[in-house]
Amino acid sequence: MMHDHPRPLTSTVSAPRTSASGRCPECGGGTLASYRVMSEGGWWSVIKCQECLASIAREAAPMFGAFTPFGAPE
Ligand SMILES: [Zn+2]
Repeated sequence: MMHDHPRPLTSTVSAPRTSASGRCPECGGGTLASYRVMSEGGWWSVIKCQECLASIAREAAPMFGAFTPFGAPE
């Protein structure tokens, strides 16, 4: 048995989204959302247009700052 204790599984790693100011350079929409995603290299803070899903910005986020991701090891 490789996994000797169950852990809750969710289909996606998700984080609360907050609205971000600015305009999408792709479609001109003003509905931007800022949130963190788990990707290669750890956590990234991204801003995406919620209308056309263009990536506006992406920067490395502190792994454990004020925000505690779901499923963080204790
Ligand atoms: Zn857009």
